[in-house]
Amino acid sequence: MSEEKKTYTTGFGAPVDNDQNSKTAGVPGPILMQDTHLLEKLGHFDRERIPERVVHAKGAGAHGYFEVTADVTKYTRAKFLSEIGKRTDVFARFSTVGGEKGSADAERDPRGFAIKFYTEEGNYDMTGNNTPVFFIRDPLKFPDFIHTQKRHPGTNLKNADMFWDFLSLTPESVHQVTILFSDRGTPRTYRNMNGYSSHTFKWYNEKGDYYWVQYHFKTEQGIQNLTRDEATEMKGNDPDHATRDLHDAIERGEYPSWRVEVQIMTPEEAREYRFDPFDITKVWFHADYPPMTIGRMVLNRNPKNYFAEVEQAAFSPANFVPGIAASPDKLLQGRLFSYHDTHLHRLGPNYHLLPINRPKAAQVNYYQRDGFMALGDNSGDAPNYYPNSFGGPEPQLNVAEPPFDVSGQAARQPYTHPNDDFFQAGELYRRVMTDEDREHLIGNITTHLCNAQKQIQLRQTAILYKADEEYGRRVAEGLGLDVKEVKKLAEMSQEERAEATS
Ligand code: NDP
Repeated sequence: MSEEKKTYTTGFGAPVDNDQNSKTAGVPGPILMQDTHLLEKLGHFDRERIPERVVHAKGAGAHGYFEVTADVTKYTRAKFLSEIGKRTDVFARFSTVGGEKGSADAERDPRGFAIKFYTEEGNYDMTGNNTPVFFIRDPLKFPDFIHTQKRHPGTNLKNADMFWDFLSLTPESVHQVTILFSDRGTPRTYRNMNGYSSHTFKWYNEKGDYYWVQYHFKTEQGIQNLTRDEATEMKGNDPDHATRDLHDAIERGEYPSWRVEVQIMTPEEAREYRFDPFDITKVWFHADYPPMTIGRMVLNRNPKNYFAEVEQAAFSPANFVPGIAASPDKLLQGRLFSYHDTHLHRLGPNYHLLPINRPKAAQVNYYQRDGFMALGDNSGDAPNYYPNSFGGPEPQLNVAEPPFDVSGQAARQPYTHPNDDFFQAGELYRRVMTDEDREHLIGNITTHLCNAQKQIQLRQTAILYKADEEYGRRVAEGLGLDVKEVKKLAEMSQEERAEATS
């Protein structure tokens, strides 16, 4: 044995004498119960897998930094945003949403875009997507929506009826459906896509004034997408292509970067805006709220161990720092609960103590103790209750979010802002897309929707028709549907349409 080589030990540090032959009674055996090295090794192997994330299971991540490039102290007191030139360490994780851990990176799906900022006031997580909007806006619909994008309970196969049935019965999804079925639904790599907070958040300053904010991370590599045929080919040739691309680019020293922009709205403007600023199926038009560049994110270091750093990374939109808070966006409100809850299930009650999740620039001083895997000294012999007379940590009153007004009746209420769910999808189709984008969109939809039952095809196409007549007509023609029938369905209320196509 060369001098540099370390001795192989058990998990408890005792030297291992032999790792090729189990301990047996005579030749050929049986194996002895007292081969404790074998028992420990098999026992650990049997427990290697942790529950897969129910969404965003397949992902890749990298370390880097965020640098402030503009003065935003007027809007937020967050210390990591307090000075031009200030840098904060980050860890980013990109992912597909619906597929399992072994699924292909080139699937048509939104891409998760989660960033953990290790700030001096604690960790701040931004759990966005590569799309500025989402399919639904009430968290009560989330489990149903995800079920329809996964596998059929009977066959365990992806099922076009489930997929389109739910979407066509949920018309607010049409904006996100239009983005998903554009070529942006199959980004060429994780480096070639934007990230969006999608949600609206609150920023508040030292004086207690507050603003509504949306984040945009604009790729400095340029947007590049795979066409439908390229994505199909990629799934077969290299199911891990985006994971590989991110790793290899960073190894080559080609560090991917994103320009960070914000749109800012005052509370007074929010009351008057033509769209509900908290409805995640809508954007704030750039012409109304021009994005302002405030920083830059660079990823420059690969993880050394995938499980420790990427699989165990746990992001939650509930991880705020002073100066940043939630908005009334209902989907965000649901996620404030759900992300933390899923990590408690997936990683256990002390997941925040794992190296990738624990704060790096801030100290943790609190009264939580014990539980499975209480890593570290479990706060030693410090007091474990509050208030106490023995010098335990004290709350800092001046970091509180400013009080805000709420009013109205407690009830199950839909979004009531007087705007429709079709206009912005139509604007994307009419005003933003090129002829080529539109052609790809129609082809991407028809080659997928054709697998659903005819009634569902009709209902979905009517919704596309409501977004834009040409859009609906071209999809109808691509599917061989009667355009007049689609038009008639488009003129009905959602309830009538559901009834007529059920
Ligand atoms: P603009 O007309 O000022 O700009 C169009 C935006 O659309 C750009 O941000 C562009 O992103 C993005 N875009 C281009 N192609 C696609 C595509 N296939 N799928 C999704 N986004 C695409 O935007 P407006 O604010 O006037 O909004 C018009 C429409 O643009 C909206 O209805 C929405 O669908 C879409 N959009 C708006 C965003 C916003 O926050 N306002 C953000 C993203 C999309 P890029 O610059 O990176 O190419």
